[in-house]
Amino acid sequence: MTMQDDRKILIEERNEVAPSKDLPTTITEKINGVITKRKLLGFCDISGDLLGDTYIICQNDGKKVCPTCAVVHNNRKICVECFKKERPLSKREYKILFVLSNEIRNARMICTLTKVPRPDYERTIRSLVASRYIERRFFSQPQINDVGMEILSLYGFYSTDGDIQALRKEMERLDGLQ
Ligand SMILES: [Zn+2]
Ligand SMILES: [Zn+2]
Repeated sequence: MTMQDDRKILIEERNEVAPSKDLPTTITEKINGVITKRKLLGFCDISGDLLGDTYIICQNDGKKVCPTCAVVHNNRKICVECFKKERPLSKREYKILFVLSNEIRNARMICTLTKVPRPDYERTIRSLVASRYIERRFFSQPQINDVGMEILSLYGFYSTDGDIQALRKEMERLDGLQ
């Protein structure tokens, strides 16, 4: 009987939170004679989401982030915070680019959709031209180019924000009216 007891393998599983700088991992060790599987859970350094098996270590600042908070830029996987510093694009710029990418080029229409006041719209268009994301010839309507389309898709993480979703809905509504 004692022999049987000795052979009995006890396994206990525990979920714990990994220390903030550590990566999620599973450690198996004997604690008080019990084989214990300690699952050390990790969380995204940006969104706080629980990290599964697929997480990314930012190649710039070493943050551990979930796939939603990572961007592949110049063949490097980096976190969205580093990316925003490398290639800044304000929310306002994103909105205007987004509308332009849907082939809406009328200034008044863009201002209505994005809720950007006209003077700010003009300023934003100038900065987008300076960044070479859009082109505008004299008196013609602005047009998004390939570089603009690329930055727009890299900033895809903005698309889950409430104001961007509202903008998308409004554009779909408009599309339905046509
Ligand atoms: Zn995240
Ligand atoms: Zn980073």
